[in-house]
Amino acid sequence: MEYELIVIGAGVWGTTAAHTASQLGIGPVLLVEKNPGVAQESSSKAGGIVTDLVWHPDDIEWVQRSRILYERALQSSGDASILQPYGMLTLAHPNRETLLGERARHLREKGIPAETWDLATIQQHYPELDRLASDTIGLWTPRDFHVNPTAYSEAAFREARSLGLEARLGTRVDRVEPTANGVRVIAGDEVWTARRVLVAAGTWSRNLLDTAGIRIPLRPYRVQLSSLDLPNGYHLPMLWDLDTDVYLVPDGPHNLLAGDGTRLFEHDPDNYQTTGDDEFIANIADQVTRFMSTADTAGLRSSWAGLCGGTPDRRPLIGSVAPGLYVAAGDQGFGVMRGPALGELAARVALDQAEAPALNPLREPFSEFPIRPGFTLEDDL
Ligand SMILES: Cc1cc2nc3c(=O)[nH]c(=O)nc-3n(C[C@H](O)[C@H](O)[C@H](O)COP(=O)(O)OP(=O)(O)OC[C@H]3O[C@@H](n4cnc5c(N)ncnc54)[C@H](O)[C@@H]3O)c2cc1C
Repeated sequence: MEYELIVIGAGVWGTTAAHTASQLGIGPVLLVEKNPGVAQESSSKAGGIVTDLVWHPDDIEWVQRSRILYERALQSSGDASILQPYGMLTLAHPNRETLLGERARHLREKGIPAETWDLATIQQHYPELDRLASDTIGLWTPRDFHVNPTAYSEAAFREARSLGLEARLGTRVDRVEPTANGVRVIAGDEVWTARRVLVAAGTWSRNLLDTAGIRIPLRPYRVQLSSLDLPNGYHLPMLWDLDTDVYLVPDGPHNLLAGDGTRLFEHDPDNYQTTGDDEFIANIADQVTRFMSTADTAGLRSSWAGLCGGTPDRRPLIGSVAPGLYVAAGDQGFGVMRGPALGELAARVALDQAEAPALNPLREPFSEFPIRPGFTLEDDL
């Protein structure tokens, strides 16, 4: 059978792309995923922060579109774990006062609420933050929220299946081969053909496209997160400390996700340490005690690491790499907050319903470019 579209990879991006194509009713669509379920790689490891505080104007649009798609999934599935409206407090040293003020003004101009706070205001709202330096400043962005990317992907997947999406879970694609009138997808003994194929295989996308002799400028790097147990509970929003890059995400009444451990060098997606490394584990609880004394009794529940895809200019790679063959990758560490929008866009580009020339995946050749963090406040890193 010939498919109209095959999507490879069922993270947030690929699941959304498959959902979008199914909704468009373009003909048979197949989603292929190597794991037995959807969103079991980077998408399941994310902190789940969704914030308007992103440095590129397109990202603000994509976060807003993603919010709509997350909300839709919440409404249609009834799964309340998809979205939690915590708000986010960004903390900084006063030398970033101008930057924070500019960002707040910029968001407000777009109709997005944002307030700058001094320490007294921070502690009035969150008295638990009792160990901040007296000159700490904050940026409060109340619309920011937390998502459960796995719950979202499962909801999108279920709905797409009800619209006719075919799926092969637990099936690893070995090769993709462009042909004269489409693309062949090979997984073990199985071969499928499609008019179009979208590779949304996260940090595996480069290796998969290598099998077709196409090299995209993507370098996987490792990001770590931990879950801390606070026996006495806490009341906090999502927190991001700009000076240390530590971020905290509420995860139930006694658990707090805490991260800081980005490792900006290339990792092999088939062979990397999936638990937190010793240095990260030793430091993360201490980092949190710098914010609040209630963390003195915090214990480590678990830690893990996943991969993110760096690109030379920190922008996503979305579009055609050969006739009929497309890619959507290059999340740069903040691909959950933009994932639904980018998955939707990738499907539309692959189906000739949208154009995104600025995201052309081959705009730069592959090189050993320096990997830089993507989720930053500044645009000039
Ligand atoms: C610790 C950590 C914290 C993070 N926190 C945040 C956050 O707070 N906010 C945020 O916005 N982002 C965050 N991110 C980034 C976010 O997780 C990613 O940007 C996002 O999950 C990317 O989604 P994806 O669908 O592109 O990739 P993935 O979720 O990795 O999906 C790719 C899929 O392709 C499949 N696949 C790969 N190769 C093949 C093959 N050959 N055949 C079949 N299937 C294949 C994989 O199994 C996988 O399911 C975090 C990442 C990490 C690691």
